[in-house]
Amino acid sequence: MSVDLMRNFVNGEFVDEGRKVTITSPVDGKPVSEVILADKKSTMEAIDSAYEAYYRSWAETTVRERQALLSKLARLVQEKSNEYALMESINTGKTLRQSMLMDIPLGISHIEYFAGTDEFKFSREITHPEYPDTRGIVQNAPMGVVGAIAPWNVPFLMAVWKIAPAVLAGNTIVLKPSHHTPMTALNLAKDIRDTGFPPGVINIVAGTGSEVGNTICTDDRVSMVSFTGSTATGKKVMSMASESLKKVTLELGGKSPNIVLPDADLDHAAKGILFGIFLNSGQLCESGSRLIVHSSVREKLIGRMTEHLKNMKAGNPMDMETEISAITTGDQLKKIGSLVREGESQGARILYQRELGESVPEGGFYFPPTILDNVTDAMTVAKEEIFGPVLAVSEFKSADEAVRIANSSKYGLASGVWTRDMKAAFDIGSRIEAGTVWINEYHMLSAAAPRGGFKKSGTGRELGLEGILEYTQTRHLFINEKESDFDRVAYGLIISDQDQ
Ligand code: NAD
Repeated sequence: MSVDLMRNFVNGEFVDEGRKVTITSPVDGKPVSEVILADKKSTMEAIDSAYEAYYRSWAETTVRERQALLSKLARLVQEKSNEYALMESINTGKTLRQSMLMDIPLGISHIEYFAGTDEFKFSREITHPEYPDTRGIVQNAPMGVVGAIAPWNVPFLMAVWKIAPAVLAGNTIVLKPSHHTPMTALNLAKDIRDTGFPPGVINIVAGTGSEVGNTICTDDRVSMVSFTGSTATGKKVMSMASESLKKVTLELGGKSPNIVLPDADLDHAAKGILFGIFLNSGQLCESGSRLIVHSSVREKLIGRMTEHLKNMKAGNPMDMETEISAITTGDQLKKIGSLVREGESQGARILYQRELGESVPEGGFYFPPTILDNVTDAMTVAKEEIFGPVLAVSEFKSADEAVRIANSSKYGLASGVWTRDMKAAFDIGSRIEAGTVWINEYHMLSAAAPRGGFKKSGTGRELGLEGILEYTQTRHLFINEKESDFDRVAYGLIISDQDQ
């Protein structure tokens, strides 16, 4: 697949300002497209246009009008879903299977969710118990211009998760996809234009963090930054945004545990744990990168996992049958290798490594799915996010110990519990410090379910009603419909008839 020059989308038009770069595919190292990376000037123009569009008209539109546009956008993307899937895989190296069956259809269904939800109410009525003759209206007012910054691992889903709830809540937006993987977000801009969103409501500027990201975080007209990326960059974003007191939501890294109890359906758990860590070659924030298994079933479970792993199809990710993804960037490939070597030097042992050999295309970036054991809490491979296909195994003897190990991480994004005992699942699940707990499942993303992190995995939520409300600020209207009633008011209190 080769794609024409891709440009940034500012004020409803594709613009040429910036620096032209060649995008090569991690699948085989071959060039696939040229992209204009935005510079500071074009980013400022995107912010100008979002600011003007917000005050010109967008904030005044109704929720229904915004939903009608989102619904049309979902239809247009659906018509080209195969094109999006090909583009997503060639740019990120994820398997075509995953793009076709997961990322793109899920993204479309998430646009549809925001287009159809009636959970989000712009306002609600309240009464004031202190002032019985008055009434109140609480409004979920938009923030204004939202700056959204996305990572390289799930570019299409990220673009949807930022754009759809932000515009639904009445904001305008400047989205910065990662400069490594800008293709599907820039392609989405074409469908946004064809949908008929007013110019300036949605702007997409691909570029580097130091240039485009910094500009978004420091411009005074941006009221909120919705950031997804690493914990280290999240800290910088929060610090930059604090200068102009922006609201910030942070969806950051993870080191998510999967706890397997002795009564679990081991075959189901084995497949789920492999899916949890090796989907997208472990390059997902929520990847289940730690396995915490009861010592009585450890051998059996690992045996089943290696059996399944051997049978997973390796090869060209663009082949629909292939199940093992590439690594998206060369730097990430090096980082994974060096963390695994560091683990070994600290005493971890490679329990199993699935050889890929010559089955994968030459010139691409690949790391063999790896299972490490002898892992202790203190090791780097147990503590730090590897963001690659590497699973660290530890074992436990009691439920308390399992919860202690699960919560020993500084992160708290996601987790899994595998058992047939629903009471145990609920008890353990309710003690895990993580924004999502899957029970006998993993990676099941629902647009209706808020997701986000405890601890260093972030602050704020994405998706669901909570996710929409992040893009709002609260306004309270206090209403007294009685004519001259001031005689009864003293120091903010109503004087009752008895007091008079
Ligand atoms: P990253 O932190 O390097 O970059 C994320 C984004 O921030 C990119 O668009 C980048 O250009 C931008 N950026 C970098 N420096 C910046 C700066 N100084 N100012 C403003 N923006 C800047 O992360 P990445 O390597 O692209 O993605 C991988 C990370 O993202 C992992 O840690 C992963 O866990 C995390 N992630 C989290 C979630 C979630 O929902 N919690 C989802 C996906 C990925």
